[in-house]
Amino acid sequence: MKKICLLGASGSIGTQTLDVMRKHPSDFDLVSFSVGKQTRKISSILKHFKNVKAICIKDKSKLSYYKKVYPSISFYYGDEGLLKIMEVDADMVVNALVGFVGLKPTLHALEKNKIVCLANKEALVVGGELVNKVLKEGEGKLYPIDSEHSAIKKCLLVDDKNVSKIVLTASGGAFRKLNREQLKDVTPEDALKHPTWKMGNKITIDCATMINKAFEVIEAHYLFNYPYEKIGITLHDESMVHSYVIYNDGLLRLDVSKPDMRNPIKLALYEFNINFETKTARSLEQFDKWHFHEFNPGRYPIVSLAKKVIEEKGVYGAIFNASNEVAVHAFLNHEIPFLMIEEIVFKAMDYFKNIKHPNYEEIAEIDSKTRQFSTKYIENWRKSHA
Ligand code: MG
Repeated sequence: MKKICLLGASGSIGTQTLDVMRKHPSDFDLVSFSVGKQTRKISSILKHFKNVKAICIKDKSKLSYYKKVYPSISFYYGDEGLLKIMEVDADMVVNALVGFVGLKPTLHALEKNKIVCLANKEALVVGGELVNKVLKEGEGKLYPIDSEHSAIKKCLLVDDKNVSKIVLTASGGAFRKLNREQLKDVTPEDALKHPTWKMGNKITIDCATMINKAFEVIEAHYLFNYPYEKIGITLHDESMVHSYVIYNDGLLRLDVSKPDMRNPIKLALYEFNINFETKTARSLEQFDKWHFHEFNPGRYPIVSLAKKVIEEKGVYGAIFNASNEVAVHAFLNHEIPFLMIEEIVFKAMDYFKNIKHPNYEEIAEIDSKTRQFSTKYIENWRKSHA
């Protein structure tokens, strides 16, 4: 029986993690969790999971209320609370937080030699070097909860010799049929209609800009240790092939299944120690019901920034992520047009100088400076367009 701390229990991945745990009650027990603003979900989670000892909420003002309602449970709040609840007896931390806030808990869990199932890809984008350092020095383990990386891990577990390339598949997001001119006037509501996956708002916008794929290339680099040139992207309309490996002899090994995040979640929870299947093929044309297209970097220029982050490392991942977080937030609030998301990211990546091998404090500092820079950029733009 694994004792689990679930960070981000009320979001899309968190909810599906609870689904998987409910189906395997003799293997997993929830001992602690966090929720953001959706505190009303606490009671329904506690109905199903009776051994919860600690809960972290976002907002300090609600703390005394919850302490009164559930006197046998310890309540914490804020970013510090996320660290406290994983120390309550948990063997495994499922990190389903969104954004930079997920880095510190990832590092903390690994420093405490826990098993981390990571859906928070931003932790690796921002702090991949730090995360790998902690993994190397300690006994902690890390498993991806991201369909592409789960697929690649499966393929590499079957055969990791003579790999020529790992290839991430991409749906292309909500606007895959539009050219760049047509992207000028799209709205958040349009962007939130993802063609194949049902996900949270931030990641759905990240799919529409394809920055999600840039993040995933960086994530793949830190998880599997391949250089930028050995990580490819193929557009695939149906999201049935979740990624694949190409070997030196031309053989492909693929992970094929219906798009359902509960599959990668289950694999991570079981540390990939359950039966799974991969398929082999000589060419993608063998799958003639499905559509694959070559990735066009000119259509999605933001993806090219993954190269800079991987090759120059330092704080570029933090700048990349923070500028995007601010821009996506502003776009969702109808403050800026869609194409300005990438404009802000490019400007921020250009503006700041790199710091090699940063520690956590240096990363946190550049994160907040980038947020200020991006917010100011938006303010100035809005003034000139008022
Ligand atoms: Mg993914």
